[in-house]
Amino acid sequence: MSTSTKRCYYETLEVERDADDSVLKSSFRKLAMKFHPDRNPGDDTSEVKFKEINEAYEVLKDRDKRAAYDRYGHAAFEQGGGGGAGFGAGFASSFSDIFEDLFGMAGQRGGRGGRERGADLRYNMEITLEEAFGGKTAQIEIPVSVTCEACSGIGAKAGTKPKTCSTCGGAGRVRQSQGFFTLERTCPGCQGRGQMIEDACPSCSGQGRVTRERTLSVNIPPGVEDGTRIRLAGEGEAGVRGGPPGDLYIFLSLAQHQFFQRDGADLHCRVPISMVTAALGGEFEVPTIEKGKTKVKVPAGTQSSRRFRIASKGMPVLRSRQMGDMYVQVVVETPQNLTKKQQELLAEFDKLSSGNTQPESEGFFTKVKDFFGNRAS
Ligand SMILES: [Zn+2]
Ligand SMILES: [Zn+2]
Repeated sequence: MSTSTKRCYYETLEVERDADDSVLKSSFRKLAMKFHPDRNPGDDTSEVKFKEINEAYEVLKDRDKRAAYDRYGHAAFEQGGGGGAGFGAGFASSFSDIFEDLFGMAGQRGGRGGRERGADLRYNMEITLEEAFGGKTAQIEIPVSVTCEACSGIGAKAGTKPKTCSTCGGAGRVRQSQGFFTLERTCPGCQGRGQMIEDACPSCSGQGRVTRERTLSVNIPPGVEDGTRIRLAGEGEAGVRGGPPGDLYIFLSLAQHQFFQRDGADLHCRVPISMVTAALGGEFEVPTIEKGKTKVKVPAGTQSSRRFRIASKGMPVLRSRQMGDMYVQVVVETPQNLTKKQQELLAEFDKLSSGNTQPESEGFFTKVKDFFGNRAS
């Protein structure tokens, strides 16, 4: 490699040796636009110039490389030169960044060889509280696009083979190299596939994918909550041209339950009890989520809204052996549609009542009396 024929980087970028970063950048942009190969098709001189501009900018925009260049000249970046070894490898990648930055070609970069990851799918599933309690294995049917069996996803009719693209030799990308620069872009001949299909597969019209109903088993663990998301890796749409498949996400929602409201791992239910049970005490049965029954003992004098806790009769905690509790709230039901006899009995009961039987009302109405009495004075 001869350094003597190389132009000075500052001259190449048409800047002074003390130019600052913004001057360097704007001059580089101006020149890169002017000599870009897309703007000068078939002009070899422009292409060489374009590469020189890029090479110069790569060095001068980097403070360390610029210092090395100022000190040692081009020798700084030659094999065995003044600490420049190893810079070469990094050039191709940083070069493509500038390239995209300048010309907005980022979109052409992904999908090497035309391979694309399949799309993720979302499946909404409603389950009952009992199912969330016990967990279950659900069978679901989802329409998914899968790799075409007739052509194994290649897209060519059976018995025919896709031809290797002559433009890129099957690589899907075309490169032009000079020195340590590599210009790389998606092959215009095959759009990155690397292959040309002449006879399209009739099953998939050459797409390589077909839509099928697929049955999947989904394992729903005990304790799942409303909004839980289950990811089934690789069960989404098939990839394009051999790309990896997407994922399937199952979004769970819990149906309303006729008795229970859930609060984390705890379950709540409201049970109406008669005035007599509340006053005299008693016992009643409530259903549990595990489809059993449990007894609740109500002591004499139970007030409405009182809650009773039944330990470990709630929901399981997801991926744990812990169980939540069940809370039973009693609501005292005031008797309605009384017969004459019942009315008489209650009236008689009332006559026998005193402040002792209704301490709360007694206390309240005493306060009300005091309140008005104080205002009058
Ligand atoms: Zn096919
Ligand atoms: Zn090609």
